[in-house]
Amino acid sequence: MQKNKNNRAFPNKEETIAQIERTPLEIMLALEQFRQILLERGLKYTLQRERIIRAIIGSDSHFTPENLKTILERKFSGKKIGMATIYRTLLLLEEAHFVTSISFGAEGKKYEYGLKAHHDHMICDSCGDLTEFTNDEMEELQEKIAKEHNFVITGHTMQIRGLCKKCQKA
Ligand SMILES: [Zn+2]
Ligand SMILES: [Zn+2]
Repeated sequence: MQKNKNNRAFPNKEETIAQIERTPLEIMLALEQFRQILLERGLKYTLQRERIIRAIIGSDSHFTPENLKTILERKFSGKKIGMATIYRTLLLLEEAHFVTSISFGAEGKKYEYGLKAHHDHMICDSCGDLTEFTNDEMEELQEKIAKEHNFVITGHTMQIRGLCKKCQKA
C-alpha cells in the first residue's frame, strides 16, 4: 500500500477546512455546553479555549490537530496557539462528546464537531480521505438486528475502510 509521505495524520493536505455558517443560537448553545464541560472539571473558561471551540463549531469537515491550529491562526489573525493546548482541549472535548475522532493508528487522529447530524464514514487508509454517507436501509437493518437480540441501541459507529478513487489509481 502506498504510504503518505508526510506520515503524521495525513496533515494539512487540504490547508483550508470547509467552514459552515452556524446560527447565533447554535453558537450560543455550544459555548454554553462548553462552559458546563469546563465547570464540571474545575477548569477555567479562557479566551484561548473559546477560540478553539469557535473554530470547531465553524468547521464542516474532519480535521487534524494541526489543521485546527491553522484554522485558528487564520481565523484569529495570526494569534499563536500552542499544540499542547490544542491536544489537551481536544482530549477534554472528546470525553464530553463535543468532538468525535477517527483514529489512523500511528498517524494520529482526525476530529469532527460532535453535534453534527448522524452519518457514517468511508475511510481511505492511504491518504486519510474521509467520505461521509448515510443509508436508511442500513440504519433500519441495525434496528432490526438489535431487536432480534433484544438490544436497545444508543448509538453506533460505522467505518468502511479501504482505498479512495484517487489512491486506487496511484
Ligand atoms: Zn485515498
Ligand atoms: Zn464525519
